Amino acid sequence: HKRRDDSVEGLLTGLINGDRYALARAITLVESSNPKHRVQAQRLLSMILERESNLASKQSTSLASITPSLDDKAILSVESSSTSSETKLNDQQKQQPIRLGKSYRIGLSGPPGVGKSTFIEAFGMYLLSLGHRVSVLAVDPSSARTGGSILGDKTRMTELSRNTMAYVRPSPSRGTLGGVARNTTEAITLCEAAGYDICLVETVGVGQSETMVADIVDMFVLLVPPAGGDELQGMKKGIMELSDLVIVNKSDGALVDSARNAQIEYTSALKFVKAISENWKPKVIRVSSMGGPEGGIDKAWSTMKEYFDIMESTGELQRKRGHQRKIWMWRQVSSELLDLLNEDAQVRELAKELESKVLQNEVMSGAAAHQIVERFMKGMNSSS
Ligand code: GDP
Repeated sequence: HKRRDDSVEGLLTGLINGDRYALARAITLVESSNPKHRVQAQRLLSMILERESNLASKQSTSLASITPSLDDKAILSVESSSTSSETKLNDQQKQQPIRLGKSYRIGLSGPPGVGKSTFIEAFGMYLLSLGHRVSVLAVDPSSARTGGSILGDKTRMTELSRNTMAYVRPSPSRGTLGGVARNTTEAITLCEAAGYDICLVETVGVGQSETMVADIVDMFVLLVPPAGGDELQGMKKGIMELSDLVIVNKSDGALVDSARNAQIEYTSALKFVKAISENWKPKVIRVSSMGGPEGGIDKAWSTMKEYFDIMESTGELQRKRGHQRKIWMWRQVSSELLDLLNEDAQVRELAKELESKVLQNEVMSGAAAHQIVERFMKGMNSSS
């Protein structure tokens, strides 16, 4: 065995060669809160970004004018690694070059037990059969808060996990929801750099995690059970508003009729929901994740393709991603400032004092916040 190279350069080379272990280590690096690791993670991400913008500009210039560079070698090594004996490719995969920097990010949410992992396993295997490379990232709000997990630490999607054209990552086990979101955004970037052209982000449909996931993916898909009525009443309007596609799962056997009813009810419920896209009307389809080729998994994909075709041709996808990056920049600013604030002992002391005063209603929240920020800035000025 080759000695593994954990330097940032080593990770980048591993990534662009499609090495799943390098990808796993790179994701661990972006998930780390250790300041030294953060610096390395940022370097790695910048190198990826630079490489991608180089590739993008080369694609738009004529090939003849390009002088060979590290990037060309990198592309070559991606191609040659595709034919290595470790990865067995089907014919379609051989024909389909890795679409560097071009990928679809799909969020998948739904209540526990609706069949998320069963769907992802079937859907993922179907995408592989079409020649795609699929990565699956999990966002689990329960693990962020309590260290426990709703998605479960049991090995899920076993067939997909074993396939070398897929990469399944369990949910990060630490951090706040904001931290998990940042990790996930960065993990998506890493997966794309490693050549996974479809990135699925799975989350449990409870709490705020869906909103967060909707903010980092291109398309948000909601999986629902084949019941209507009460179930639909209990469903938060907010999550319907986020959904570009609603999939009624378990549409098989004795459940087909109630799945049909659910489809009708969700379709009419969506009519009263404000559309998020100017070019796409949310759709409701039925599938059976356990129904094999007749289960409608192909219809799920063709509907998603339809969405992406429209979003790409109208330019809305690009605008959406740009907007998301802007949102994340400001979220990042807030969280970094908050970290700095918390590192300042004087500020911490004052904040503790003010917290209890706010609790007793002796000081207004706004005034207290102002004092905290002022103390922080004073500390900054005197230290510089
Ligand atoms: P998750 O908690 O959302 O990930 O749900 P799972 O994928 O673990 O599935 C929960 C249960 O529903 C399991 O017992 C599955 O076998 C079952 N299930 C999932 N998809 C289907 C389906 O399409 N049809 C039927 N009949 N059962 C399904």
